Amino acid sequence: MAGQGDKWPAIGIDLGTTYSCVAVWRRDRVEIIVNDLGNRTTPSHVAFTRKERLVGDAAKNQIARNPDNSVFDAKRLIGRRFSDLLVQNDIKLWPFKVIEGPEDKPIIVVTYKDEEKHFSAEEISSMVLNKMREIAEAYLGTSVKNAVITVPANFNDSQRKATKDAGNIAGLNVMRIINESTAAAIAYGLDEIDIGKKNVLIFDLGGGTVDLSLLTIENGTFKVKAVAGDTHLGGEDFDNRMLEHCVKIFNRQQNEDISGNVRALRRLRTACERAKMILSSANETSIEVDSLYKGIDFYLSITRARFAELNMDLFKKSIELVDKCLTDAKMDKSGIDDIVLIGGSSRIPDLQQLLQDFFDGKQLNKNINPDEAVAYGAAIQAAKLASMGNEKVENIVVLDVTPLSLGVEVGEGEMSVVIPRNTDIPTKMERYYTTRFDDQTSILFPVFEGERARTVDNHQLGEFILSSIPPAPEGVADIKVCFEIDANGILNVSAVEQITGTSCEITITNDKARLPKEEIDRIVEDAEKYKVEDDEHKKGVTAKEALEKYTFKMRNIINDKKIGDKLDTTSKETIEAAIGQAIHWLDGIQLAEVHEFEEKLTQLKLICNPIIQKNGQNDDMMLQNMAPEEDVGQQRKGSSSGNSVFNYMAKVGLNLIPYKKTTKKK
Ligand code: ADP
Ligand code: MG
Repeated sequence: MAGQGDKWPAIGIDLGTTYSCVAVWRRDRVEIIVNDLGNRTTPSHVAFTRKERLVGDAAKNQIARNPDNSVFDAKRLIGRRFSDLLVQNDIKLWPFKVIEGPEDKPIIVVTYKDEEKHFSAEEISSMVLNKMREIAEAYLGTSVKNAVITVPANFNDSQRKATKDAGNIAGLNVMRIINESTAAAIAYGLDEIDIGKKNVLIFDLGGGTVDLSLLTIENGTFKVKAVAGDTHLGGEDFDNRMLEHCVKIFNRQQNEDISGNVRALRRLRTACERAKMILSSANETSIEVDSLYKGIDFYLSITRARFAELNMDLFKKSIELVDKCLTDAKMDKSGIDDIVLIGGSSRIPDLQQLLQDFFDGKQLNKNINPDEAVAYGAAIQAAKLASMGNEKVENIVVLDVTPLSLGVEVGEGEMSVVIPRNTDIPTKMERYYTTRFDDQTSILFPVFEGERARTVDNHQLGEFILSSIPPAPEGVADIKVCFEIDANGILNVSAVEQITGTSCEITITNDKARLPKEEIDRIVEDAEKYKVEDDEHKKGVTAKEALEKYTFKMRNIINDKKIGDKLDTTSKETIEAAIGQAIHWLDGIQLAEVHEFEEKLTQLKLICNPIIQKNGQNDDMMLQNMAPEEDVGQQRKGSSSGNSVFNYMAKVGLNLIPYKKTTKKK
């Protein structure tokens, strides 16, 4: 097919606050790619230990043991400033440390291999993206470079750019940044192409964000009418409410305040999240944590109604966004043909009820997988961009909109909008400005996004100065300012002085919420370094495993009555001593180099192998009948040919028993 070449394979990645998902278009359909544990979504967690860096399930599973160095929620930080109130509030709840970095950037601090390390949110996200890429590579059996990454529709310019930076740090070629809800709409609409025009509301409530899009789908064209959302409202907030509730109850019952105990809070939060999920299908459950604090157990029975009450204001807040979205799209709720639920938290029954009530009892569409739809749609978009899809995919047209108004600050701090919210993108819009004072030769353009009239209430993206304006009375200079948004939703701004014909084009570069170019280069280098370290660690684990396996299997041989008893005392004692010494060494070490494990294994083999070999030659039965505890099932299967020992030895890399000797049938 045309254009495939180096663009293929192209994957779609849903980089979620709490879970990420990766998919690919293959064999004429989308395949959701399972990770190394067989799971279809992977926790967006990264953890650092004395020995290694863990990403995904492995990181999430060890969080209670290592809370300070287990990082999650990087998406809540990405493209934001440290001083942002939302960031400050989150920091209070996170077990890991976040400090103020240069230019007001939040920096995550962890201890890795006994050293303090600093990471930006982009770096942590890049580690998650890298993991998703590795999952895809293992599945596809080839290297992967090209990806479409999704972001919440309401992500602002700096959050989008920072996400793209994270992709670049992970070594990906980010083909496109698309909105999560648009991706979900594509997943929903791909097969709805022939059914005429439909107005669809995508309601995506995940772990950290709520993301709404109202689209009109017609003949493969996905026209986004309006988007709305809150990049800071989701399942984790519901967990927090439950957690606060539990902390209060514990305090009341035991007169103990656990609000400062990171480990207790983390364990309790995990129990809360579990209970929350159960309450989506059961009316009542319990939150239980053994020995939560000072040996005291925690137990609380909680009903669905109580959970809903704790969160009702948040549920309502997400429903209000629906109203806003409809207003922006100038549409009445009766005009909506389908309401599609996406995101793990959309499973909450009370929330579904509120949404259904809002739409006067209309049935909600729960037909598409809420955890996978975003990655599914991203994979379709990736296939289209790589020209590798089928006819249906090729015919898809996505017309997206900008989530926030963009403009410059004028006069005494007023917002002058250049591109209004919900304008179709890509777009290019111009406005003209002039000087405020006589003989003014330069103008400062602070660029903002947001809906408020005064810039102090909006978010500053950056600023630039246009100089060399010819001196003239105030209001004479004629400056054209051009805002351009590309298909990723990313902004470029330029200004041109018109009257004299001298033009000057400027692109915003000093956006404080973003990483400077040199910093990105450094991080890319670091990312490679970490990869080498991870690989080195994996090798260490393999070498350790080989030594352990050999040691334990030798012990099994010795302990096996039929075999062990046939060895003479000296041989037995020699092997026992060697095994004992190896086990002692293994128990004592935490960290060791690959070569140390290998040397130990060689030493052990030198001692044990000749003895086993000698005795094996004397009595083939001794080895043939041996059935070690592990792999018994497999052994039995193998033993039908009489060479079970050989199979078993070969498996541990011990090739000392000649084939003919072990296969001799009695
Ligand atoms: P994100 O994309 O933001 O990472 P997801 O769409 O993967 O989020 O949803 C994850 C969130 O959904 C988590 O907060 C999780 O606790 C919540 N969740 C998952 N399953 C359920 C359920 N059955 N009931 C309620 N919440 C759920
Ligand atoms: Mg999501």
